[in-house]
Amino acid sequence: MSIARPYPIRCPKCGAEAEVRLYDSINVGEDPQLREDLMANRLNAVTCGACSFQYRVDKPLLYMDPAREFAVWWTPEGAADPAKADDEYRRMQDSLREAPGRPDLKLHLVHERVELVERIFLLEAGLDERLIEYVKYLIFSKNARKVDPRTRRLLFNAQDSDPESLCFVVQDVESRRLEGVLKYDRKMLSDLETMFANNPTQPLAELFPHPYVSARKLMLD
Ligand SMILES: [Zn+2]
Repeated sequence: MSIARPYPIRCPKCGAEAEVRLYDSINVGEDPQLREDLMANRLNAVTCGACSFQYRVDKPLLYMDPAREFAVWWTPEGAADPAKADDEYRRMQDSLREAPGRPDLKLHLVHERVELVERIFLLEAGLDERLIEYVKYLIFSKNARKVDPRTRRLLFNAQDSDPESLCFVVQDVESRRLEGVLKYDRKMLSDLETMFANNPTQPLAELFPHPYVSARKLMLD
């Protein structure tokens, strides 16, 4: 079930206060339109009744896709307080498990809206998030000067990926400007997959142990 609740919000432009209904969670199996709204930047978007200013409220959101058996917990304060985000994630995982009649959803954790969108596309494409983050880790490691993890993030781009190659976009973290595109051979991905699958020590889970799976975080740690 998708859940929206009224929130007291102050317009960032004119300061007018209003009560606005915002989504806490969306179930895209029941409400596929909400997925489209999220992708089109319309979810939790507000138009001020006083000055007509349009803005988006970035607040915690649970995204659920029961048909594909995944959910994503997005907590915008995660980058500032990762430990709190990890705690919230575990509580959310428990409440998902306890919810009656809900299929077993694999819960993911993201800190940024752009990561939420990326993760949805990645999972819809049937890819493994740890494997994709490992590929990013390789790209960061081999191109340290061009793609500096302190200032740049890599985003998997599903739309421009094809059967031969995976597409990654380089984004400036501060300005959010997209600066370039990198292609990665899918053949290498399946080689990596085989390599990790044949390794009994599960190195991918060891490399990315936290609920917040991120090559950038791994590089910065
Ligand atoms: Zn206003």
